[in-house]
Amino acid sequence: MSVTEESLLERVTDPKGREIFEPATGSLLGRAPEHTVDDLERAVAAAVAAQPAWEARGHEERSARLVRIADRIDAAAEPLARLLAREQGKPLNGPNARFEVGACSAWLRATAATVLEDQVVVEDGRQVSTLTYRPVGVVAAVGPWNWPLMIAIWQIAPSLRMGNTVVVKPSEFTPLSVLALVSLANEELEDGVLTALSGDREVGARLVAHPAVRKIMFTGSTATGRKIVEASGANLARLTLELGGNDAGIVLPDADPEAIAQDLFWGAFINTGQTCAALKRLYVHESLHDRVVDALAGVAAKMPLGVSLSEENVLGPVQNRMQFDIVSGLVEDARTRGATIVTGGAPATELGPLFYPITLVTGLKDGDPLVDEEQFGPALPIISYSDVDDAVASANRLDVGLGASVWSSDPAAAQAVADRIEAGTVWINGHGGVHPFAPFGGVKSSGYGLEFGVEGLKSVAVPKVVTRPVG
Ligand code: NAD
Repeated sequence: MSVTEESLLERVTDPKGREIFEPATGSLLGRAPEHTVDDLERAVAAAVAAQPAWEARGHEERSARLVRIADRIDAAAEPLARLLAREQGKPLNGPNARFEVGACSAWLRATAATVLEDQVVVEDGRQVSTLTYRPVGVVAAVGPWNWPLMIAIWQIAPSLRMGNTVVVKPSEFTPLSVLALVSLANEELEDGVLTALSGDREVGARLVAHPAVRKIMFTGSTATGRKIVEASGANLARLTLELGGNDAGIVLPDADPEAIAQDLFWGAFINTGQTCAALKRLYVHESLHDRVVDALAGVAAKMPLGVSLSEENVLGPVQNRMQFDIVSGLVEDARTRGATIVTGGAPATELGPLFYPITLVTGLKDGDPLVDEEQFGPALPIISYSDVDDAVASANRLDVGLGASVWSSDPAAAQAVADRIEAGTVWINGHGGVHPFAPFGGVKSSGYGLEFGVEGLKSVAVPKVVTRPVG
């Protein structure tokens, strides 16, 4: 029987659960189960029990299962994308819901194809030492509300691939779509290998502190990341922390404003700006400043904003009231400081209570809140600079370093600036593109540990060296 949006919702809705409303329309989408501490204990016990048999299946079989899960996601792609669009708010088109579901399938397939080889680290005539990687055991995967499906897969796929079992705790803002994804995956997995727990931050806190949890994959805010580090003092769980960012972009004087405008726009406003590694402050050489601002405003004017299920829209609402208030508060603050609001700047209430238009702000400087704090929404400060050394210093002055970008027509000049930026990833003439074989992670308060590719597999495994004498 083919999967429909209704059947997916029916699988995951609990009639007595917590109401989940669509951010774009305010209508009731469904009710998410509220799992209890007893549910959590059962889920972890099942994960512990299932792990040895899952590990024993071996790499080939586990990779085959990931591919079969990808097939299931592809077969249910449209209903899953619609459910995601309704719950998260992102439109179907553009780099949004359909794109996110496609990325889930692509990441599963790429992870299935990634091989972490044993490595002979000593061979000196007297001994041979081989470095191998074993599963960690039970992995707790805790995720945010902005890319709930894709980030869940980033955590789940490598963990399963390496022979771990996983307990997933989606964000309380977007549980239904993740529960639906897990339900599809479970059509290919034995009981206990992958379990989703739906609940608030308290459930997350109990999960990460559980003594049987050996590894935590966490994506979310820096504040929560710090709490998880503290909790790991008790169970000594290994951590991968993908935390907040405030990515800088630097436009060098030789860039072509009209040629880069579209990529700058999506670098900043992918998922309506609610993206960890989005461009969040743009430093533009004074000689190009006005042209870049005009070109960006021109692109913004052509991008339809509106409800998630309308095919024409590529920008959607802010996902929740808390984030909406952060974005609108930062823009109001900029206004009171005398900044120029080039476009946007006030809630688009005619579309619904959580819509905020693309907002370009000029005339700010380092230290102003819209520049220094993570807005995580559709507002971008554009700051003029005259000396590239100052722009590099600005990019590096904050205590975060997830991504950054350099925009230039001269590859050598761009590379030289990229080399000086403190961030996990620096893109040249682009921003935010990730690849399943390119390790991704932050520096400073943006977290530690890497996801994707061979490095990503290592981070959900424990190294083991076997040494034998020669002869
Ligand atoms: P959040 O930290 O509020 O919540 C993330 C998850 O952690 C939720 O599931 C929540 O229930 C859970 N949680 C909360 N308190 C917890 C605790 N004490 N112990 C365990 N779990 C707990 O983050 P959010 O608001 O959902 O996401 C937005 C933030 O995430 C932004 O700062 C953004 O930059 C960041 N983010 C980072 C990346 C990345 O890859 N670096 C990706 C997406 C989002």
